[in-house]
Formats: sequence, C-alpha cells, structure tokens
Amino acid sequence: MEQNVIRKALVTGGAGFLGSHLCRRLLAEGYEVTALDNLFTGTRTNIEDLLDNSRFSFVLHDVTRPFWGQFDEIYNLACPASPVHYQYRPIETMKTSVLGMMNMLELALKTKAKILHSSTSEVYGDPLVHPQVETYWGNVNTIGIRSCYDEGKRCAETLAADYRREYGVDVRMVRIFNTYGPSMHPKDGRVISNFIMQALNNEDITLFGDGLQTRSFQYCDDLTDAMRRYMELPREAVDAFCEKKGLGSPVINTGNPEEYTIKELAEETLRQLPESKSKLVYRPLPSDDPKRRKPDIAFAKELLGWEPKVSLQDGLAKTIEYFRKLGE
Ligand code: NAD
Ligand code: UDP
Repeated sequence: MEQNVIRKALVTGGAGFLGSHLCRRLLAEGYEVTALDNLFTGTRTNIEDLLDNSRFSFVLHDVTRPFWGQFDEIYNLACPASPVHYQYRPIETMKTSVLGMMNMLELALKTKAKILHSSTSEVYGDPLVHPQVETYWGNVNTIGIRSCYDEGKRCAETLAADYRREYGVDVRMVRIFNTYGPSMHPKDGRVISNFIMQALNNEDITLFGDGLQTRSFQYCDDLTDAMRRYMELPREAVDAFCEKKGLGSPVINTGNPEEYTIKELAEETLRQLPESKSKLVYRPLPSDDPKRRKPDIAFAKELLGWEPKVSLQDGLAKTIEYFRKLGE
C-alpha cells in the first residue's frame, strides 16, 4: 500500500519577513520544514509560533558556509532585502548572494533536490524598458551603493543557470518586485514599513526625491502562492516553457503590476490613517534609486496560472493592522 510521504523543505532566510510566511504556508500544506537563518535581519519572533510544531525546526546558520541535509525542496531566500540593511553590510550581502547560492546549489546537486531562488526586480537596475520583461537584461551600476545587492543577485542567477546547464540541477527563479505585509520589521527601512510607522507615530512622512518615482507593491501572500505553484510544476513543464520563450533559465517575474508613485503611496497610507498628524516632507534621493518599476507578469500568468489577488488598499490595511497591534 502506498504511504503518505512527508515532503521536506529547507527555507534559507526562514526567520525573515518572506521566509517566515513561506514556512507557515509549507507547514499548512503538510511539509516538514527546516528554517535556516543567521538572524542578521530576521528575528525569532517571526517564527516563535512555529517552534512548537513537531514538523518545524530552526537552524542558526550562515548560508555562506556549507550546509548538509536531505530535502526534497530548497527555497533560497537568505539575503538582506532592505537597501538600508544591505548597504550597512555590502560585502556580507555579496557573499550571502553568491556563496550562499553556491552552497545551496551544491546541496541541491548532491541530494537531487529542487531549488527555488528568490531573485529580485533589482536585476533590472534602473530599467530603460517599461514594464520589465524577463528577457530584458537590465541597466545596473557595478560600483554604486546598490551594486552589492543587484550584482550579487545577478551573479546568483548566473550560477543557478549554469548549475542547471552543466549539472542538470532543477532550478527555478522568481524575480520578486517590492513585496510587503505583516512580519516586516518595523525598522526595516523599506518604504511601506517606514510610512506606516511614521504615520502611526505622527512623525514626518519622508519622501525621497520628488516622490514621483514609481514602484509596484505585491502583498506577501500573493508571492507565497506564486512560489508554491512554481515548485509544484513538473520539471518537464518548466523546461518546455523555457524552450518556448527562449529563456536561458527558468526565471519569472512575480509582482503586482499596479504602479504607484511613492507620493501616492504616502497619500494612501494617510487616507487609511486619518487620525495621523503626520505631514509629507521631502528628503534627498539616494543614489541609483530606480525611477520606474513595474513587472510584466505575462510569463507567470501563462506558466503558473497565477496573478496577484490583493490590491494595495487591502494589503496596506492588513499591514497597518499588524503594525498597530505591534505597538499596543
Ligand atoms: P528579510 O531581510 O526580512 O529576510 C532575509 C532573511 O535572510 C533574514 O531572516 C536574514 O536574517 C536572513 N539572512 C541574511 N543573510 C543571511 C546569511 N548569510 N545566512 C543566513 N541567513 C541570512 O527580507 P525579505 O523581504 O524577507 O527577503 C527575502 C528574500 O526575498 C531575499 O533574498 C530578498 O532579496 C528577496 N526579495 C525580497 C523582496 C521584497 O520586496 N521583500 C523583493 C525582491 C527580492
Ligand atoms: N523611499 C522613500 N521614503 C522612505 C523609504 C523609501 O521615499 O522612507 C523611496 C525610495 O527612495 C524608493 C522607494 O521608496 O524610491 C522604494 O524604496 P524601498 O527602500 O522600499 O525599496 P527599493 O525598491 O528602492 O529597493
């Protein structure tokens, strides 16, 4: 008689914002989950409620060092994602992206695990093509303050593509566009957490530059859903899709194509918090800050049958609720 086999997943960066959501989702689907994290930007609080689950374990480990274990699926999320965090430790960030990716690809190779890598819209840099399609190669500065992250993630994609071509590793990659939601660190430094915290505390809302640069904001549950759909696909379907689209490696954008200026985001935050006494103030634009960002998600729609469901208004309301409770 066929037995129900419990699938095992490794989530690097599992104590971070997105990693902890993914762990929760995998556990709900019946997986045995190991979260690996060095707690650079992640916290034990993010996974505290999971520690009692007998199918969950946490390993304090730095992904730049080799790690061994038998898993069916590896989700490589370890890497600081907020510009404030990765610019604080740029060399560590590059090492995490490159050595971390290599260690996880070696693990996937030796144990025949599938691996999903969390890449980023930053591989497009300050894009000259709008919206950004996967076949666009990007416009990235190699020596700027964002380069440790952008180039690290680009190198990780190259490694993944070559482990697939040279050794046949079953690699899948998502280029994640700005994603937000509960469990973001209140001092994370990214725009949504900054604006909500500022509005809740009646502090000035800091718009960098003229506030007319754009971003497209994806709610965390939509991303987790895309990741899971992607990993569930048989390898043949993924390979056939790459062939059909002329993609050197299976990489798809995941994001919400609704595009907002940062000023519109600030206004929407204040609209949802009418009691706030915060005012909009303007601060200098950090260098290399991309002017426009919006994903083309046609590939994700076709391959995964996926599109985001949560609007910015709804996602923001849930995130505000989370930060409000945190302060109580
Ligand atoms: P996060 O900072 O909350 O999570 C990153 C996690 O990785 C943290 O728990 C951190 O402690 C851990 N980590 C960092 N360096 C590590 C190392 N050397 N070894 C082990 N663990 C390490 O950020 P997030 O938003 O959850 O991002 C998760 C992943 O998604 C990252 O790879 C990021 O590049 C990618 N991503 C996120 C977004 C977004 O908008 N949230 C956008 C694009 C890509
Ligand atoms: N930003 C801002 N005020 C803040 C934080 C960020 O105006 O307090 C801007 C930032 O300059 C960028 C956008 O918001 O144009 C998104 O920034 P974030 O750090 O969230 O992510 P990025 O997409 O730049 O990696």
